[in-house]
Amino acid sequence: MMALFSRKIPFAEAARALTADLRQNGLTSAVSPELEELSRLLREHEPKPVVEDTGDLLQSVLEALPDPAGVIERDGKLSRSNYQLDALLGPGRSIGRTLLEATRSVDLADAVTRALGGATERRELTLPALQKIVLASVAPVARNRALLVVRDLTEQKRSEATRRDFVANASHELRTPVAAISGAAETLLSGGIALDETARSFVEMINRHCSRLTRLTQDLLDLSRLEAGEWHVEMSALEVQPLCEQAIELVRARATQRKITLSVDSPARLRVLADRRALEQVLVNLLDNAIKFSPEGGRVTLLADGTSSHIVLSVIDTGAGIEPRHLERIFERFYRVDSGRAREAGGTGLGLAIVKHLVQAQGGEVGVESGQGGSRFWVKLRATASGHISKGP
Ligand code: ADP
Repeated sequence: MMALFSRKIPFAEAARALTADLRQNGLTSAVSPELEELSRLLREHEPKPVVEDTGDLLQSVLEALPDPAGVIERDGKLSRSNYQLDALLGPGRSIGRTLLEATRSVDLADAVTRALGGATERRELTLPALQKIVLASVAPVARNRALLVVRDLTEQKRSEATRRDFVANASHELRTPVAAISGAAETLLSGGIALDETARSFVEMINRHCSRLTRLTQDLLDLSRLEAGEWHVEMSALEVQPLCEQAIELVRARATQRKITLSVDSPARLRVLADRRALEQVLVNLLDNAIKFSPEGGRVTLLADGTSSHIVLSVIDTGAGIEPRHLERIFERFYRVDSGRAREAGGTGLGLAIVKHLVQAQGGEVGVESGQGGSRFWVKLRATASGHISKGP
């Protein structure tokens, strides 16, 4: 059987030719039904020619995608769309139109133009005509066309905003009663009223926890504002050295308490493009941690260095360091390596999350390297045009 099927084309042709020949020569009766049957069977098993139907294949691929997707021709008009894209744009609103016409998004139209020019674009953007927030990926494909894939983020963004608003409102509401309790505790401790030893220790405890609650509500408020993009940075060219000295002064009292030596190592005239208030908060948070997580008698250094394009500020400590498995998550909110110890040290677990957001809001990057001899938290920001004074090789 295998042999027959492997040679089915010559057999089919031979059977057909023989039948036709016999008929042509008037030998119809000689064409046996068996030969006719064999000819039919072999014809049926002939391989069908492959139909070049790339159009349907493309459509099937688009329909198989879980997200809205379509193909854009070189003139910028949408030529194909899958079911989800039709549902997103509205039936009959897409084919033959440009994405600017269909969505009124200048940003998306720009991404399409770039993709048609050969660049792959991935942007989070708003589609004003549809009141949607989407992540649009546009990539060049064959024959100067572009493939658009869209992920609808509207619901996700809405629930993130609800969560953020809740946290911000709750923190805001907590501030007034916490301030009142704190004020009362401080009055009791300031000596106006006689307290026995037990009462004093309780009031001190109330005061300590009030301070923590105040920091926590303030950090939560800051973080909500940062996440909502409500923290507007004012970028300007800043002298790095005086900025570092100021940040060091703000944490000096805490360092002295813990017998930690502080030092600044920054070249003169180094300038960074940053928001003064934001950068100061970043440095104070990093220095605070370095002091908190170093043993008494340790050393904390604030080091600045730069190239023509970037300035790197590092806070280096001689603490116990952080295990590699924690490093990836350390900038997440409420992530702590040793929560008991961190809480005891007065931390909120939000300091590094705030650092990350503040640095990103200034267009910079943040990172950490850590080993047994201590940690180095670094911040990379843009240098100003005249900011190039490098100490490096
Ligand atoms: P916290 O308020 O607890 O300090 P952060 O977000 O600032 O919160 O830091 C998160 C955690 O990262 C800390 O609880 C601590 O475990 C770890 N950490 C941060 N900085 C250092 C450091 N310099 N050395 C060791 N561990 C650190």
